[in-house]
Amino acid sequence: MNFPVEEFRKIETPFYYYDKKVFDNTLQAIQASLSEHPNYHLHYAIKANANVDVLKEIQKAGFGVDAVSGGEIQQALDAGFDANKIVYAGVGKADWEINLGLDAGIFCFNVESEPELQIINELAGAKGKVAKVCFRINPNVGAHTHANITTGLAENKFGIAMEDMELAIREAQELSNIEFIGLHFHIGSQILEMGDFEALCARINELQDRLEQEGIVVKNINVGGGLGIAYDDPDGKPIPDFEAYFDTYARNLRLREGQHVHFELGRAIVGQMGSLITKVLYVKKCHVKQFCIVDAGMSDLIRPALYDAHHEIQNITSEASERETYDVVGPICESSDVFGKDENLPSCDRGDLIAIRSAGAYGEIMACQYNCRKLPKGYLF
Ligand SMILES: *Cc1c(COP(=O)(O)O)cnc(C)c1O
Repeated sequence: MNFPVEEFRKIETPFYYYDKKVFDNTLQAIQASLSEHPNYHLHYAIKANANVDVLKEIQKAGFGVDAVSGGEIQQALDAGFDANKIVYAGVGKADWEINLGLDAGIFCFNVESEPELQIINELAGAKGKVAKVCFRINPNVGAHTHANITTGLAENKFGIAMEDMELAIREAQELSNIEFIGLHFHIGSQILEMGDFEALCARINELQDRLEQEGIVVKNINVGGGLGIAYDDPDGKPIPDFEAYFDTYARNLRLREGQHVHFELGRAIVGQMGSLITKVLYVKKCHVKQFCIVDAGMSDLIRPALYDAHHEIQNITSEASERETYDVVGPICESSDVFGKDENLPSCDRGDLIAIRSAGAYGEIMACQYNCRKLPKGYLF
């Protein structure tokens, strides 16, 4: 991958670089796969990256938004997304957030508990509105991913237990300010095995059969997101296999007449087009190790410290022919502030630019000011 290094030299490091070309190609690949399925609808999981320039591209591509907070609903509205394409999940929706969703007229609330249903009914009633709701069902389907990002197991805090599904729907049907419009699922993130999504489809088929016997009509099935990206090969696999992903659902999910399927992809849309660009401050040699100390830290990109994630690391300015082994670390006062151990890189010098790849998702948005640091900015070009 050739980075526009000359441009980078004019920007204060560390910063996020969003590659417009890779991004456009990714959005086009999704549109191409989706065009084969007119009843499929994509809601971008805005929590992955809420950079305004990034959002505008996704909005222009015609997708909706999956929000998990009032702030995200507002950010989506500000970026020009159609309220009728916004879905809103979360186990702890505050009253002001529900009111914001009601006032904006979002497509639906993905309800995660019975008490939440009651409050939405009350708040909608006070406004003389009817809130459309899907129930988020915990399908007790495991995903082959990191334990911190699996969400569909019975022990996770998300969703309503399968056993309580009928009861919740019956209750919703009795409430005068609630319209039940479907079911919602989301089993986890960074999932690369299509078998995990097949297992979800099998579970949904089972639940649909149960509901059909009870005469309950489900208009919408929201299968969530979770499609992963190739962190180990950003250049070889810049675009996730959307074709295989949507085909998995087409082959395995048994739909009823007129049903719509909703997807909530985040990482797969924005992950590979982003890199965190950082500058080498010092190369420090110790007896057992050699450290490449860069000006970005876990406050800018927390995934390695939080999830044990590994992002490819490249020295994008070194012209050295020999390679050396470094632990690439940040300046933060935490031992977990490490981007990579034993990284084999062209010899690094003060001032070299380093690209930490596949950082478009859960990067800039998770940055914090720990150690009173400045937040990194994101640039799309
Ligand atoms: C985080 C999240 C997503 C998106 O997950 P990705 O792995 O980024 O695709 C989708 N739906 C819900 C409810 C989420 O919380």
